[in-house]
Amino acid sequence: MTDYSKFLKESNLTNGSWHAADSNSNIPVTNPATGEVIGSVPNCGTAETERAIQVAATAFKTYSRTDISYRVGLLRKLHDALMDNQEALAALLTAEQGKPLFEARGEIAIGAAYILWFAEEIRRAKGEIVPAPTNDRRLLVTHHPVGVVGAITPWNFPSSMLARKLGPALAAGCTVVAKPATATPYSALAWGVLALEVGFPDGVLNILTGSAREIGGAIMASPDVRKVTFTGSTEVGKTLIRQSADTVKKVSMELGGNAPFIVFEDAEIDAAVEGAMVSKYRNMGQTCVCTNRFYVHEKIHNEFVEKLLTATKALKIGDGAADGITQGPLIDMAAVEKVEAFISDSESKGGQIALGGKRHALGETFFEPTVITGANSDMDFATDEIFGPIAAVFKFETEDEAVAAANATEFGLAAYVYTRDVGRIFRLNDALDYGLIGFNSGLITTVEVPFGGLKESGLGNEGGSQGLQDYLETKYVCIAGI
Ligand code: ADP
Repeated sequence: MTDYSKFLKESNLTNGSWHAADSNSNIPVTNPATGEVIGSVPNCGTAETERAIQVAATAFKTYSRTDISYRVGLLRKLHDALMDNQEALAALLTAEQGKPLFEARGEIAIGAAYILWFAEEIRRAKGEIVPAPTNDRRLLVTHHPVGVVGAITPWNFPSSMLARKLGPALAAGCTVVAKPATATPYSALAWGVLALEVGFPDGVLNILTGSAREIGGAIMASPDVRKVTFTGSTEVGKTLIRQSADTVKKVSMELGGNAPFIVFEDAEIDAAVEGAMVSKYRNMGQTCVCTNRFYVHEKIHNEFVEKLLTATKALKIGDGAADGITQGPLIDMAAVEKVEAFISDSESKGGQIALGGKRHALGETFFEPTVITGANSDMDFATDEIFGPIAAVFKFETEDEAVAAANATEFGLAAYVYTRDVGRIFRLNDALDYGLIGFNSGLITTVEVPFGGLKESGLGNEGGSQGLQDYLETKYVCIAGI
């Protein structure tokens, strides 16, 4: 196992130095695969957060005025430092989060790629000179860093979700107060280790662990924090949107999903199954873009299910740090119980468990990858996010029926469609109320494009050129009397 001790930072970062909580109390961090405590992190609250915000506000005064070429240089170094430490960072991520090592390596790489992307993109964040209606005036549109950014991140992608926020914030000239999820703080604190190592000035990046309510509350209440970027549940996202009203902050929200995966009768079945596997079981089903509902045309339903079962049986379950593992543990017992509740609900409403359906013999939070057929719209997973390894298969007959069912949720993040009919692709691009649509692919995220949900799945975008705009204010400048 790669030595990750350099990144197992058991303290918080404010103003360029590492510290404990004021109360000196700590929170243990557990490896979900083994149940072992791998370390502990400070249990910070309101007072530490208010200090960090003040530090970030002071640092903003100078950092926001630095040369773009200087910030680009720092971000490039940060990218390189991340990739130089990819193995150690991946091992740490697997230890605290559970995902298989190959996925953890991929997460570190895409996080680094976001940093590089925004280092490039800030150089193209052009303003405008707008033709004035009268000749004695010049009209400009200019962009400016938004200010101190509060960044709150989840446990399922503890490194790359922060990368998507740090990249644009630090490129734009913003300073940051970050709060990672309590289950997975080390992958976030590692960003602090590397940011200091490559030379980011003190106070530009501050990272606090501890009470979500207190740290989040202080961030939301502060008039100095001009933008909050959040990835997590819709429920918490709604609370933060409400809290943002008092200080009229900008908010970016990457919230829950309930992705449909529609397989039409003309689809290439093998490709659809390959896409189904990656979109369903990545990170043990614990991603906001994971397929929640498979809608399969009746003509190819049995063939698709048979092949899905064969592929699912080939998954290798175990400690993500071991060779060849494709499925790690779920994050905690609450996640296991939630998955069990979805299964018993569907069984009570006529669902058939074609595979799995129970806790894995390995114990801890390991769960058998599960396939349920005969799914219907009364079952809880028709509307609620599973966030676990259950493939629920619904049958459909017509395109209209599939689209209506796919859209029958308050979520609107990712959708997947397998078809070879070009006309249908364009029809569904219009008809599906989703912010991310993958045709003939189950894995579509890349740094060059916007990532964001419609409806209750979120506000704003991360990645692409849009992901930078959210960290910039626009000013219109009128120069009269020329
Ligand atoms: P998930 O469990 O999917 O990560 P959550 O929405 O529960 O989703 O958590 C996402 C992040 O939001 C975590 O860092 C969590 O600690 C934080 N969080 C939870 N509740 C609050 C709150 N009331 N205010 C601010 N942040 C919160």
